[in-house]
Amino acid sequence: MTTDFAVKIEQWYKQHKRALPWRETSDPYCIWLSEIILQQTRVEQGRAYYERFVDTFPTVRELAAASEETVLLLWQGLGYYSRARNLHKAARQIAALGAFPSDYAAILSLPGVGTYTAAAIASFAFGLPYAVLDGNVFRVLSRYFKVETPIDSTEGKKEFKALAEELLDKKHPSLYNQAIMDFGAVVCKPSGPECVLCPLCGSCMAYAHNRVQQLPVKAKKMKQKTRCLSYVYVSTPKEEVLIKKRAGNDIWKGLYEFPLVESDEGLSLSSLQQRFPVGKWSLLEHGFVHQLTHQRLLVNFYRLELPKKDSSLQGVWVKKSELQNYAFPQLLVKLLSRGL
Ligand code: SF4
Repeated sequence: MTTDFAVKIEQWYKQHKRALPWRETSDPYCIWLSEIILQQTRVEQGRAYYERFVDTFPTVRELAAASEETVLLLWQGLGYYSRARNLHKAARQIAALGAFPSDYAAILSLPGVGTYTAAAIASFAFGLPYAVLDGNVFRVLSRYFKVETPIDSTEGKKEFKALAEELLDKKHPSLYNQAIMDFGAVVCKPSGPECVLCPLCGSCMAYAHNRVQQLPVKAKKMKQKTRCLSYVYVSTPKEEVLIKKRAGNDIWKGLYEFPLVESDEGLSLSSLQQRFPVGKWSLLEHGFVHQLTHQRLLVNFYRLELPKKDSSLQGVWVKKSELQNYAFPQLLVKLLSRGL
């Protein structure tokens, strides 16, 4: 039976839904692509990337056939690069299967696909009755039903999952899931929800008890970490520049960067000169702040002009004009755009 809650949300959606390219298709490849891009990205920013990916790789086979470097270059600026690497891995798996998997368990087993994304693809592309549970849905449910259990606790996750499944319109799972997510993004927003215009206002428990601003409840606060990075732009008179591919299990794995020294405090020009007393050193940028979700990066950017390539330095020498062919973290793209 469709609940009154579902009916109202769906009615609202039919009148107010945002026109987005991935809504106009039931192609699982396009839906999957949009969901991976939107995992940690706002719709407005994600849209341009979605269009770029669909234009470059119209089918999953074309994405699978591309190199990881091409995929990372196209992803440049979106952040959370593990999404791009998983997207590429999953594309190869799907291409090997011959078709996009059409059952929930198989979708969930793809790299980079969690329960939310699997439910979204299963319902949007295949009409399967799986309820989505993302930040928007947690917020709408916790407010409308005044659920005070922390959404990031084990108990909360169970409670909200059960509630979301109970409310799902099983005859129209795609419509219902898109409706509740859009409603959370447009009306029941994190700050400044539009309660006065909200079609659910008359029966909303948080509104009735003046608890809208306090809900949803979160148990843990994420700790913010500060890192001091000193990047060195090493160049020669022939416009050769030294770059290196990032490895290890850290941010920006697989992307390129300039030689880097990470330290507890930002390194001064004189300490770098002492460590490497050749060439001509200069400071390009001091104390540049770059904010990631859980990390604050404090960056000094130096230039070292060498008379010629030094083969004792680790990395790859490339032409300055070719730097655009390599995927760099957005931080370095910004620093480069300020001129050298
Ligand atoms: S009345 Fe306000 S808090 Fe309640 S569902 Fe509507 S927008 Fe959200």
